[in-house]
Amino acid sequence: MADVEIRPSYATQLLNWPWVLIRFRCDHRPRRGDAKLAACAARYGEFITIGEPLQIFRRSCPNSPEMRQRRQQKYGLKCTGYLADLGAPPPPNLPPTMAAWTVIDGGKKQA
Ligand SMILES: [Zn+2]
Repeated sequence: MADVEIRPSYATQLLNWPWVLIRFRCDHRPRRGDAKLAACAARYGEFITIGEPLQIFRRSCPNSPEMRQRRQQKYGLKCTGYLADLGAPPPPNLPPTMAAWTVIDGGKKQA
């Protein structure tokens, strides 16, 4: 089994991306796109970094300078595409029924 990174980054390979979906977002024009990790890995290979599908998402943005049908903007507005889950703690590996019990603050008070 490959080493799983604790905190994913743009250099994380698809192989080690801990979420089932890759959620792309862009703030300039509210734009979003979700890709299934398995479909992305089947198409591009499991060893590409997560930053590569993000570049594909950015290139298809109307704000991308690579979109030829769009007029060049004076200040070169660029796509701000990002990965919605990057920086979030990775999801648990086990379903809730198999995970260990945890104490929740603010629970029932003792008499
Ligand atoms: Zn964009």
